[in-house]
Amino acid sequence: MVIRQVVNTVFNSCSYVLVQDGASWVVDCGDIEMLLPLIKGQLRGVMLTHSHFDHIYGLNDLLAHFPHTPVLTNAAGREGLLSDKLNFSRYHETPFILDTPEDIRLVSDQERLELFEGISAQAIYTPGHSPCSVTWKIDDALFTGDSYIPGVKTVTNFPHSDKRLAGESRERILSLAESCRVYPGHPSQLELDL
Ligand SMILES: [Zn+2]
Repeated sequence: MVIRQVVNTVFNSCSYVLVQDGASWVVDCGDIEMLLPLIKGQLRGVMLTHSHFDHIYGLNDLLAHFPHTPVLTNAAGREGLLSDKLNFSRYHETPFILDTPEDIRLVSDQERLELFEGISAQAIYTPGHSPCSVTWKIDDALFTGDSYIPGVKTVTNFPHSDKRLAGESRERILSLAESCRVYPGHPSQLELDL
């Protein structure tokens, strides 16, 4: 599996494209101009780390290119996709609501799904930064969104953040990270310092 990173223009959020066997998956979706050239073959789905604006704003454009692609999130993530207030896009120049709610596929905590032959993803709920935060464990890669960015304090001052839960989620991620490589929702401080 090849993993490619895109750093988006809005808040430097990160999207990722996973490619194997001539098919692709995407983790979070910002600027699709940078994302599209990296997607090979069939786009099987989009996994969301959470539905804050900067991690979802390209979804309508992406799904226009790849109709009926499932968007994987939890129940709180679904609410965020359908509310420009909950996903905070209302407070930016371009309010965002997902045009195709029928494409949303809810995942439960710890649920596993096969991405490619021999490679599965596990959805691990990591609430705190947001109730919709999900960390995706894919092989030995951990897509943590904003629940854990190495060298950066987890942001918990949003209206629906929960500092205690964020701490617990961070601990859970740190123990998983011992045997995994971390792909965060924004470049880590370590990368920014380079
Ligand atoms: Zn966020």
